[in-house]
Amino acid sequence: MKYSFTKLDTYEKCPRRFRIIYIDRVKQESRDPLVFGDVIHECLLLLTGPMVGTGAHKPGAMFVKGICTTVATDKGLTGNEAFKEAIDCLIDFFKTWEAQSPIIAVEKSFEVNIGGITLTGKIDRIDDRSGEGSVIEVVDYKTGQTFITKAEAENSLQLGTYDIAARQLFPEAHSVLTTFHNIRTRQKITVEHTSEQIDNTKLYIRSLVNQIESERNWAPKLHEFCVYCDDRPNCPAYQDALQGKRSTPVAETLNDLEAVAREREDVARLYRILGKRKKELEEAIRPHLTNGPIILGNVRYRLLKNRVVEHSAEDVIAEVSKDTRIDPAFLAGLICKVNTKELDAYITDCEEIMGKRLTLLRARLENVANRGVNKPKFDARPVSEEIT
Ligand code: SF4
Repeated sequence: MKYSFTKLDTYEKCPRRFRIIYIDRVKQESRDPLVFGDVIHECLLLLTGPMVGTGAHKPGAMFVKGICTTVATDKGLTGNEAFKEAIDCLIDFFKTWEAQSPIIAVEKSFEVNIGGITLTGKIDRIDDRSGEGSVIEVVDYKTGQTFITKAEAENSLQLGTYDIAARQLFPEAHSVLTTFHNIRTRQKITVEHTSEQIDNTKLYIRSLVNQIESERNWAPKLHEFCVYCDDRPNCPAYQDALQGKRSTPVAETLNDLEAVAREREDVARLYRILGKRKKELEEAIRPHLTNGPIILGNVRYRLLKNRVVEHSAEDVIAEVSKDTRIDPAFLAGLICKVNTKELDAYITDCEEIMGKRLTLLRARLENVANRGVNKPKFDARPVSEEIT
């Protein structure tokens, strides 16, 4: 069997799903988050493809919108929000294109040999960072909503695999950089692997392949992508989770951090699966509420108006300064804040009329922005997939 990063990743996440896809060859239906990723990848292929080896200019916002509309319609990307987000992400992607190195290849297929194992794959983009082939940068596009930590990138099996592939594809390069570029979170994180990290990646790939080849049980392993798995109706682990069955005991005390962490992960898995189920159930009831409330069991279900209240900054300043006699300009500085996303969307629409002046405007806006720090966000990620 040939292996790819996707196959190894699927096995790591859930052996049962690996068997269904790669051994039983059951075709999986694409679901919304996966379609979103497909749309972004296809658009970037169409938009950056003509730039390979030509130094062609980056596409303008209107062209990006046009390509995205065609691809999203073709792939059935549903929902205005997802569609609008895809366009915003792609436009933002090209905003930071100014100092782009020459592109050598997009969607570059590879087949490499790692100690007798044939590993295949496709790299999203390869850049020539030095302009003369001595420094190669391999870029993988991500479209998830979470931020990637430096440690995750350094220990990523995917980046490690792409590094090995790039060294075989470009033996003349003396340096290979590997980058995750998350198009959704606008995060870019670059890793230059040490030779020890590369050796560890090769060892880890061999150990994963050994596990797959000696696997007999193909046990299900719940993880964050279960809610998109087509095998959910037949999967015992998923069905147990739908029944709310816990697989770890309740921590006896909140001081026992090991027990707290175990229970937290168990609850987080159930919470995600049950949250998705709750949404499905509510969507089933919703269409019956358009003509008024209904009672099922002893619960009244109804649709409530979701009011949005917004004030025009001009009106608010005029009204407040009328009574307080505070200078309107001072008041504006005190209470008016401009939402970065909306400002960005607005000035991007001005690209056609402003041309290069738009870059200067963006730089000036960056300079006058106020930056602060909110309460730190709680984050939890598995380390089992890390190569140590
Ligand atoms: S539902 Fe989850 S645990 Fe079950 S087979 Fe699918 S991915 Fe694996």
